[in-house]
Order: sequence, then C-alpha cells, then structure tokens
Amino acid sequence: MEDRPAHRGTKRHARLRHNPRGPLLWVGDDEDWETARQKDQVLVCPETACDIELAAVHAPSNRYNPRFFRFKSASRICGHWPAGNRGGPETPQHDWVKARLARIARHQGYQATAEHWHTRADVYVHEPAFCLEVQLRPTQFADRTASRHHKGTEVCWFIRDGLDSKKSRQALFHGRGVRFRVVDRETHRPIEPWNEPGNYDLDRRAVIEVWGTVARLPRRGREPDPTATGPGVSWFTTGTLSGYQFLTEVLSGQRRWHPAGRIGNKTGLWVLDTDVAAYNEFRKRQQQHREQLARKAEEAGGPQLSGEPQTEPAEPTPHMPVSAIQRHETTREIAELEADTGPINKIGNLPRAAVPVYSSASRPRPRPRRRRWWQFWLLW
Ligand SMILES: [Zn+2]
Repeated sequence: MEDRPAHRGTKRHARLRHNPRGPLLWVGDDEDWETARQKDQVLVCPETACDIELAAVHAPSNRYNPRFFRFKSASRICGHWPAGNRGGPETPQHDWVKARLARIARHQGYQATAEHWHTRADVYVHEPAFCLEVQLRPTQFADRTASRHHKGTEVCWFIRDGLDSKKSRQALFHGRGVRFRVVDRETHRPIEPWNEPGNYDLDRRAVIEVWGTVARLPRRGREPDPTATGPGVSWFTTGTLSGYQFLTEVLSGQRRWHPAGRIGNKTGLWVLDTDVAAYNEFRKRQQQHREQLARKAEEAGGPQLSGEPQTEPAEPTPHMPVSAIQRHETTREIAELEADTGPINKIGNLPRAAVPVYSSASRPRPRPRRRRWWQFWLLW
C-alpha cells in the first residue's frame, strides 16, 4: 500500500454489516476506530445498498494517513466515499474537532456523520439538515455557504482562533461563523489533545469554546435607556460560550443566525430567540417613548422647526446591500471587531466579560429641544 498515492482506493468510513442502521465508523474518531479494529466482524462500504467488504488498516509509518479502510478483495471495489475527495490530508487537529462536534451532536440525539460524502460537510447533522464546517485554513467561505443554502441546508462555520484573514473575518461576521478554540475545561487555557493520541485524561479535559458572534443580553445595569437612545442603537453584546451549549442551542433552533442589520446588529450574530424577544420589547418601549414625546409636542402646539431632525437615520435593513451596511461601520467599530477576534482569557480563568460590539452607536443622542419665540427671532 505504501508506494501508492496516499488516498487512492481507500476510504475513511466503514459500516458494520450486522448493524446496517448504526452510525458509520470513521477513522478520525478513536472509539470508532477501536470498534473497526475488533476481530470477528465484517466491515462493508458505508454507502447504503453497497455490500463491498472492507478491512481496517493501521499504518503508523504513513504520516498523513495512518488509519484507513481498504478493499478486502482487489476484484470487488467501488467508488463510494473515497478518502481523497476532500483536497489534501486532514490534520489531526481537524479530525479531533470534527470528531468532538459529531459526538456533541450525537449526545443530543442527532444522527451526525463526520466528512459526509454526499454534502462534503465536515460534520453533517441529518435531521434537521445542518452542515458544521471546521476552518483551520483560509478557504472559499462564501461559495461553500451558498452551495449549502442552495441545497436547503443550514451551515455554521467554526473558525479557528488566530485564523485572521479578511476572508475569515467576512465569514465570521457576515457568513454564519463563530470563533473557536480548544481549552482545558478547568483552567480555560488552550490545549492540544490531538498531539497526544493515547492521552484520554487530556481528551476528557478538553472542551471547545466559542465566541465572536455569540450574542448576549446587555450587561445588567448597563442596558441602553429606551428614553435616551435612537432607533439605530446596538443593544446586544457578545460573549463566550462552551461549544457544547452553543451547538445544543443552534441545532435545536433556540439560537439562530441574524444577519447584520436585522436586530440593531451591525454584524451577523447567533442570538437566542428569548433574547430577540427581550430586544423587541426594548424597541417597543423606545417607540412608545417617541410617540409620547410627539404627543406632548403636539399638545403644547409649539411650532416645529424644519431644521431639527425629528427622527434619526434608520438602521440598516436586511434589504440594504451589504456594502451599504458596511458603510455604517466606523474605524472604531472595526477596531472593536478586531479586538473581538483575539483570545478570550488572556490571564484569568473566568470567561471574559461581555464586550459591547458597537458602543459608539449607543452613545445617547441629545433630545430634540423646543425653542422659545425669541430664539426664532435670533434665527431670522
Ligand atoms: Zn460502495
């Protein structure tokens, strides 16, 4: 096998013949691999209705492909689920994260397949159809997201901490992304369990943490005042969440992606439905306050000055082109976005406190003031 190109004629998935409905065994998952290597069982092609027999091969000398399934007989082969269709060898880190995401999804009762052949998803959750993509290197985010949507599948990009190109930031804030890193569950310091394959203790301690586009309610005591803020105020903050909780909320539909401009957010955010309800309540109070002010002004019968704006510019709507939304961004906001892409816990053990994404937009604006008759005289 060694002198052949690494992937040709091999697979990274297999199925147990006696358990055709069971989850696929995948080389990137240690437990799956243990099961696959057990004696006295027959492995077959992962594709339903294909019964070509496979054998699990462990080749430690093959640096990029130490585990694979090969055809048991050279005369009975098929082209399903080929190992080499993903464009280059997968890294141990990539495999580890995919295996963990699939395991979280399965723990929540979903059927999940890592490196799904038909969708090319890193992890495919079958029902509801959801593609989880793990991004360690720059890639064509937009194209792949568009092709997912075309097929009616939701997608979430998990973008590695430190992958900080223009494209990855665009994917993070405007293309259904979230930042992730792998940390020790106690100390929250980054660890690399994929570099110590047999170390089960390290593996148990490792958890995924996500941030960057994970929306939170305003901090207690720092909620914007509905009587002193304009319609374009940013209300949500962002924070850190465990990958387990995030994925649970996203797959169950409790936390959804809201593109820029929908809920006073200038970048896309993953927001809990209950938090959206709280935001809508805030907007209602804001509106009521403005109406109350307008009524009072009418009752007083004072003249309206044409030069004084009564309403503020509307916040970007989903119908506005992206470029128009981006024009609203100031240098300061971009600097805050940059800061938000950095690691969360530089020193402490606790998750970083939530940071308002757009504090410049939430600055209270002066309330329109009625003028006295003598002020009109001055204006003339
Ligand atoms: Zn087959």
